[in-house]
Amino acid sequence: MDAAGRERYSRQILFPGIGERGQEALLASHAVVVGCGALGSFHAAALVRAGVGRITLIDRDFVEPSNLHRQWLFEESDAAEGLPKAIAAERRLRAVNSSAPVRGVVADLTAANVSDLLDGAGVILDGTDNFDARYLINDFAVSQGTPWIYGAAVGSYGLEMAVLPGRTACLRCVYPEPPSGVQPTCDTAGVIGPIVAAIASLQVADALKILTGGGPVCGRITTMDLWAGTVRQVDPPDRDQDCVACGRREFPALNESRRTPVTLCGRNSVQIHERERAVDLTELKTRLEPLGEVRANEFVLRFRADQYEMTIFPDGRAIVKGTSDPGVARGVYARYLGS
Ligand SMILES: [Zn+2]
Repeated sequence: MDAAGRERYSRQILFPGIGERGQEALLASHAVVVGCGALGSFHAAALVRAGVGRITLIDRDFVEPSNLHRQWLFEESDAAEGLPKAIAAERRLRAVNSSAPVRGVVADLTAANVSDLLDGAGVILDGTDNFDARYLINDFAVSQGTPWIYGAAVGSYGLEMAVLPGRTACLRCVYPEPPSGVQPTCDTAGVIGPIVAAIASLQVADALKILTGGGPVCGRITTMDLWAGTVRQVDPPDRDQDCVACGRREFPALNESRRTPVTLCGRNSVQIHERERAVDLTELKTRLEPLGEVRANEFVLRFRADQYEMTIFPDGRAIVKGTSDPGVARGVYARYLGS
């Protein structure tokens, strides 16, 4: 570490749990943040400031005005431009720490790309909002022996748990099946900024302990409700020897060939997971202009027609707003991009 690094990270180096050796380890480490919304944008900023050497941010979504009250990295101009979160975050983080390589990847994490995107991570932080993605992260991480940190927040309530493959329970030991029934989401139940920051902070603290090797990570489940003012911790559950991931090593999420469209219920929108159809956004803009309102940049195109708004990405993926019916969404997609 050079003199500038020693000065920059001096207060972290003074902290006995990290020290100069821990800081060197951080500077040489690679963290992957999956989902760059409320939790993920906090993770990314905290890790970049802490000096993590390489950070990959993966997010499939774009910035909207309703994100700004809790998604610390984004500004009004990002929402006005409809920038992908991964791109907006990468830009801002370069200004925070110009020596930390930050790579924003605009993509939906799937079985097809998970090993490309998560390979080589020293730790994976969960900033997603759905169990499909979390099972995918869990199965990949457990299969590779990579630690990952589960986090979730909605309303004023949140939960955090670190998964150390082979040592602590994995997500499938705790939740063999996704929770049944309609679950509250930030789009239906709302969310306040402080719970996001609190849960994300617990995740980042565990990530720093893992990357520096300087502290105990125990896999305990922490839950908190900041409105009720309650914090609870339960001991780590035992590993399930019959768990399909960490017990039987079958990793079902890694074998799902093609995902069906994901319905983003609370937002009245459906995502079409088309990825075989590379789209030239400039050409598409020209084609759609006579049909409705179009805005495009090199990363994303937004098109409004009738009661629908489509957001289209260069790999052919699209989010159709204005319906929660996958069939209708497929029809709208096919109407404007072909089937
Ligand atoms: Zn397990």
